[in-house]
Amino acid sequence: MKAEIVAVGTELLLGQIVNTNAQFLSRECAALGIDMFYQTVVGDNEQRLMDAFQLAASRADIVICTGGLGPTQDDLTKDVLAAYTGRQLVLHEPSMQAITELFSTRGIHMVESNRRQALMLEGSDPLHNETGLAVGVALTHEGTHFILLPGPPKEMKPMFIKYASEWLRGVMTDEVPLYSKMLKFAGIGESNLEHQLIDLIESQSDPTIAPYAKEGEVTIRLTTRALSAAEGERNLMATEAEIRRRVGEHLYAVEDVPIETVILQMLGQKQLQLTVAESCTGGLLSDMITNVPGSSQSFLGGIICYSNALKNKLLNVPMQVLEGTDAPGAVSKETAAILAEQLLVVTGSDFGISVTGVAGPGASEGKPVGLVYLGLAQRGVEAKVVTLQLSGTRETIKHRAAKGALYHFWK
Ligand code: ATP
Ligand code: MG
Repeated sequence: MKAEIVAVGTELLLGQIVNTNAQFLSRECAALGIDMFYQTVVGDNEQRLMDAFQLAASRADIVICTGGLGPTQDDLTKDVLAAYTGRQLVLHEPSMQAITELFSTRGIHMVESNRRQALMLEGSDPLHNETGLAVGVALTHEGTHFILLPGPPKEMKPMFIKYASEWLRGVMTDEVPLYSKMLKFAGIGESNLEHQLIDLIESQSDPTIAPYAKEGEVTIRLTTRALSAAEGERNLMATEAEIRRRVGEHLYAVEDVPIETVILQMLGQKQLQLTVAESCTGGLLSDMITNVPGSSQSFLGGIICYSNALKNKLLNVPMQVLEGTDAPGAVSKETAAILAEQLLVVTGSDFGISVTGVAGPGASEGKPVGLVYLGLAQRGVEAKVVTLQLSGTRETIKHRAAKGALYHFWK
């Protein structure tokens, strides 16, 4: 089914607020297998909203509207849809009761306009508002399915997830549902990954292959139409195998989890422990790791040895290595290796990861911005050093360095 979002609000057109509702609804619709064809933004104006409904109904099967369900004069959405469909506005008694009760328990006088929030259209289904007062509306009129949702995201989201999506599933019974699977990649950029799969992405319509990048990781969502998970898996088999053949060395999970979760699971199963020594990432790597619930089981902790003094004092990197005209310097293979090895000595952990590099914006020790050395130490094995040449702002380089460290450790 084809859908259109109509976001109502002059403040959207003035740039005072960002249309995050459209993003949320588009994503939710994609997951429901609804094809979003248009996103419209229209001000709080009766005639233009009427035109927007007319146009949307002419080109979409589903019209999802947000905003303008409140009690004030500029909240027109229900009135305009009533006029457009030639239906009366009727009172939804349970909503009216909830509004009346709320005002009386708060001891505030209820003004007449608050009644407006309990109105729905004749012949429509109410959508319960758990976090606000205005009742939502779902209505099928002359073959078009209309959904009216409140503007505030904290009201709109639960109403959509709990009630509107259920209603939409009900009107989409003829369609074969979608089955999706997430493939998660690390150590490869989105454009590179896409480049290696471009012929598949462009030639296939089922399964579809949708790559997207988020915070240093790339996700591919494979989607197919299937009546059961087993059938879905079968449909995806050949495509997934081909993707694995091409970029499998970067694939770390087949569910939507960050790489640190996979690493901690691995360590937890083997009852092994990890520590980190961070210079240029300044604690970001430890932050990522400790964002995983239960990380304390395998993560002993980290040392932020940002200065040469601390690299020397806490992790015994000799000053001759760190400083001096012919010294390798703080950003060097030597320092990365010593930091990682010393983590095992000083903390007694089984694994050590160190990160030292130039986050920018300027060069350091005559070394270019984005040059990062990762030290990877394992008890009983000689430490390994990986060199990365990253690009981006200071913040992105720190982020990529931390994710890179996790990827090379996982590998
Ligand atoms: P209210 O009862 O608060 O008046 P409403 O349903 O009438 O709700 P609007 O008046 O259109 O909705 O918008 C209320 C607030 O909701 C806006 O000020 C804004 O903060 C937020 N909002 C509205 N539309 C959007 C949108 N498309 N994306 C993000 N936020 C939005
Ligand atoms: Mg309003």
